[in-house]
Amino acid sequence: MERVYLDWAATTAVNIEILKKALEQSIIYSENPSSPHDDGKKARAFIESCRESLASLFGTTKDRLIFTSGATESNNIVINSLIPKQLQKHSFSNPGNIVISAIEHASVYEPVKALEKYGWEIREVLPEANGIISAESFVEKIDKNTRLAAIIMINNETGAIQPVYEIGRLLSEKNFRKRVHYHIDAVQAAGKYPLNLDNTKADSASISSHKFQGPRGAGILYLNKEISPIYSGGGQERNLRSGTENTFAIAGTLLAAEKALQNTDENLKKAIKYKKLLLETINNIPNAFLNPLCKTSDYLNPEKYSPYIISVGIKPVPGEVLVRVLSSNGFDVSTGSACSAGKKGKSRVLNAFGIDNESAFSTIRISTGCGTEVEEISQFCDTLIRETTILVNSLSK
Ligand code: PMP
Repeated sequence: MERVYLDWAATTAVNIEILKKALEQSIIYSENPSSPHDDGKKARAFIESCRESLASLFGTTKDRLIFTSGATESNNIVINSLIPKQLQKHSFSNPGNIVISAIEHASVYEPVKALEKYGWEIREVLPEANGIISAESFVEKIDKNTRLAAIIMINNETGAIQPVYEIGRLLSEKNFRKRVHYHIDAVQAAGKYPLNLDNTKADSASISSHKFQGPRGAGILYLNKEISPIYSGGGQERNLRSGTENTFAIAGTLLAAEKALQNTDENLKKAIKYKKLLLETINNIPNAFLNPLCKTSDYLNPEKYSPYIISVGIKPVPGEVLVRVLSSNGFDVSTGSACSAGKKGKSRVLNAFGIDNESAFSTIRISTGCGTEVEEISQFCDTLIRETTILVNSLSK
């Protein structure tokens, strides 16, 4: 039996055509783009043309895009840029505060928390019971000592969409723009929703190519404000990401973005249909619950929750057990964020959503993507009902 892949939020299924074409282009333009000879200049022109096309796909200009090795690096470049500035100013006792949501991905949460040891105060904003942060309560935490405010655009564990546009507007209204660097993690939105980066009013945003069928280890940092570099070297990528550019990664990012953004509407419609089918099945499973707490009609609204992500628990079945049983039946799903899988104990993100430890322990994440087929969903639904009935019965004895 062919395996059914329902873990697209962790990484998308590979698209061989995209990777092959990217490889071909990286062979044609294999010289160092910083070399002064003709072949080097051709490689430079190719990379810059990719940058220009990506800028127009993501609603910005080419001078605002920096190529990185992925969203983890993009997030870290922005967050850790606070350190060189702090060192310059010798402000070790009270450098300021950073406002983040409590539901950030580890690649934002961990580097921000690491700054506590340099004296930074970290202010976390909790979402409401529906898993969505209120823009007002986020901005209320910002004061004259805030240097960075960061929020995830679509939460990768529950799919809850955060009010990044409204926060951007409130920051402008309150005249915080100059002093506060506003960063968004756009990873679960890019390639799935139309995304106009300039319209977000963010100073920076991170994008990861493998979330829309580009290569792994490739990403973009959107940046329209000057920040201090954390790397030193050849000065590539506006001196913020020194190192010879990865032509394969850049070519693959563009090819994947072109494909994904041509089909966002169609893909979204398909994902909503699949989510509906999954929810109908989940509603028929006794002891099943959805994270976060919201009405089904809201959960199906693609302006509030990503249709690509479903977070569901079936008590008292441990999520890890259900993932294993589904896997042995040929279905790949995950417990939560792949980046946090294997971390035993509490779930930081689900707890912040108001989900107790017992429910978080029983939670699995089902995530669909542009390649998901309706037959795969119906096979999955049949298996989910069958296997959870067996598990619940055996655990209740
Ligand atoms: N942010 C979010 C919301 C993510 O889902 C991920 C990937 N799981 C990342 C950041 C990190 O992206 P990358 O794998 O490109 O480092």
